[in-house]
Amino acid sequence: MTKFVFVTGGVSSSLGKGLTASALGRLLKSRGLRVTMMKLDPYINVDPGTMNPYEHGEVFVTEDGGETDLDLGHYERFIDENLRRDSNATTGKIYSQVIAKERRGDYLGKTVQVIPHVTDEIKERIRRVATDDVDVVIVEIGGTVGDIEIVPFLEAVRQFRHDVGRDNVCYVHLTLVPFLTPSGEQKTKPTQHSVTELRSRGIQPDVIVCRSDRHIPADLKRKISLQCDVRVEAVVAAIDAPSIYDIPWVLYGEGLDSVVLQTLALDADRHPIDLSTWQRVVAQAHTADHCVHIGIVGKYVNLPDAYLSVVEALRHAGFETGASVEVEWIAAESVQDMLLHDQLAHLDGIVVPGGFGERGIEGKIAAVRYAREHEVPCLGLCLGLQVMVIDMARHVAGLEGANSREFDVTTPHPVIDLMDDQHDVVDLGGTMRLGAYLARLRPGSVVARAYGQEIVSERHRHRYEVNPRYRTTLERHGLVCSGTSPDDRLVEFVELAGHPYWVGTQAHPEFKSRPDRPHPLFLELVRSAIVRAEGRLGRLIDIDADPGAART
Ligand code: GLN
Repeated sequence: MTKFVFVTGGVSSSLGKGLTASALGRLLKSRGLRVTMMKLDPYINVDPGTMNPYEHGEVFVTEDGGETDLDLGHYERFIDENLRRDSNATTGKIYSQVIAKERRGDYLGKTVQVIPHVTDEIKERIRRVATDDVDVVIVEIGGTVGDIEIVPFLEAVRQFRHDVGRDNVCYVHLTLVPFLTPSGEQKTKPTQHSVTELRSRGIQPDVIVCRSDRHIPADLKRKISLQCDVRVEAVVAAIDAPSIYDIPWVLYGEGLDSVVLQTLALDADRHPIDLSTWQRVVAQAHTADHCVHIGIVGKYVNLPDAYLSVVEALRHAGFETGASVEVEWIAAESVQDMLLHDQLAHLDGIVVPGGFGERGIEGKIAAVRYAREHEVPCLGLCLGLQVMVIDMARHVAGLEGANSREFDVTTPHPVIDLMDDQHDVVDLGGTMRLGAYLARLRPGSVVARAYGQEIVSERHRHRYEVNPRYRTTLERHGLVCSGTSPDDRLVEFVELAGHPYWVGTQAHPEFKSRPDRPHPLFLELVRSAIVRAEGRLGRLIDIDADPGAART
């Protein structure tokens, strides 16, 4: 029988419910259990695909092409399992389904209501992820208890225990225990109120995880235990961790996984924990002995969550190479100005991540051009590849005014254009390529060496492609199309011969990087950045040793 853990949150948003759920997933997986995860989002958008990254952060793409909440990225990185489109459901998606069923007459003329029709649909979706090969499903409910939109979800998961049996469900509730500086005290009242709210929906938590910036003493845990009617061992302190990858350790130290196993009637002795892989990751995260500066040139640099998986992929590459990767956020619109003032010279590497829309495009083109001309390691992701191609077209192949038709519909040289399913250029529409696609890499190329294989699969999320009509011209001028779709029509990877590392991919490799298995393209970027940083250090040392050298 599959077991279910439901993770809810109270008091405040952004307490780290997704990370807490992910860390629990890692602990259960480290006990040999087969774990999958799911996110239920109470907002009305059908999926996050069209949501503004400023509000919602990155759109995470699954292998099967689901455009999902960024928490799924944490889940995949922590439990090291690929999730599916079905692993994320919103109110919008659930209502669309219920309304479609009503239109088809599936409800036989009955009055369609939140209870039971919407709640049944929610429960059905939860059951769907509980396939035969899964021991535990961890379901995170987005939002906080008390929100209007969350009510049907709480009702559905309340009923779920009734449906599948007491021992098969564990309710974990995340709250905040704030420290009030004026009175010098940690406060339990917000936790109490939030649990009261949860109970008013019929859910008595089995475990309370208390976010706190400091140690929670035993007497305070006893107080929460008494107030909220949970066992004292089930009051777990989640103290701020030095890095997100430390969270499983923090929660393991507090016995979270043992309490969850007990609630689910699973014998901890039959599922001993092995955290050695994770231990290595955490050790690497704390033992960096040098530092590289990587600039991320993007549109949403004020909200780094918009590029969450890119940052994590860079950090993973840092773990492997022993480097601490310092990310510098560079607003695409200010690149030209920064170049005039030589303000990118200290960077050891540059990433141009994915994006939509015209704003900042010229800055991104300038950034990859600068990297190309100054031998700065550079990785272009999706839109990043497209701006690399535009740069080569304009500044090397002499195609004046070359552009993507996304940004200039009248460009004389649409080197990036819309394609149809047959991979032919079309005027309108174009097919959004979503999810995993295969590519064939050119033997001996930088990317083939990085991956160590010639057939690779990466996740996509874009509408535009390199225009095949310009490929020969671009290749004649030195652009190496080092990876293509198996039919050779679509350009999937580009690079330059003779440059330390100037690589673009039409895909989003950042979604597949794991803390203990960094993605090869990020790994190579960071390795090249280290070489550049060492070169710079070497030059500085030389200058130090020979004061005259500084003047020459
Ligand atoms: N806007 C570009 C396209 O649709 C790139 C998309 C992306 O970077 N994800 O093709």
